[in-house]
Amino acid sequence: MLNYQLARKVALACNILSLEGHGDITLGHVTAREQGSEYLYMKPKGIGLDEVTARDIIMINLDGKKIAGHRGLHSEYPIHTEICRVRPEINCVIHTHPPFSTALAASDRKLRPVSHEGVLFTNLPVFTETTELIVKPEQGKAIAEKLGRQKAMLMRNHGVVVVGESVEEAAIYAVLLEKAAKMQFYTELLGAYHWTSEIEVYRKKEQIYHPQNIKNFWNYFVRKVKRNYRNNCL
Ligand SMILES: [Zn+2]
Repeated sequence: MLNYQLARKVALACNILSLEGHGDITLGHVTAREQGSEYLYMKPKGIGLDEVTARDIIMINLDGKKIAGHRGLHSEYPIHTEICRVRPEINCVIHTHPPFSTALAASDRKLRPVSHEGVLFTNLPVFTETTELIVKPEQGKAIAEKLGRQKAMLMRNHGVVVVGESVEEAAIYAVLLEKAAKMQFYTELLGAYHWTSEIEVYRKKEQIYHPQNIKNFWNYFVRKVKRNYRNNCL
């Protein structure tokens, strides 16, 4: 029997990501787990991030075996299982193909903190080992290794991985990563540019992206989902 609250949170995260530019037809996925659990709640394949409801969520174990739920499993589950295996503090993993972050990942440009959001992603790793789908546990392990202790990573010619200690944190970071990449894209069009200094990066992280604001941002987006996808929230 699935924990409805957690399933609903995964569905809400999917809906939020869709609203904030992470949608890619039926691709992209979110997993979450209860602290310490070996079972992951996951968005199923075959439906878009905007369509997901709590009833669609499936449960898998760390070997990618489906335990519960009526829908199918995304082939890229090893991204999630292998990160969760080596990061016990991580309870949510997101993998999507948002356009600005994916464009940045295809370039040799570094993400610079040209806007507030950028201060969260100043040392962003880029996974370059393969641009293909991550369908084997070895590939998932390589993803987890490159991600290291970071909260986000670009995947060259593919997309992004974002993780968090909670669904709220991972979802908000994923939204902010795409916004930071978008700001970088627009700034680059203007030619030479400036970015936030190291000391200000540190201060702005504390001033803006503290835990209470992450909660506030999540609550804001939940309200936005309710306005936009009324049927999903029943
Ligand atoms: Zn993918």
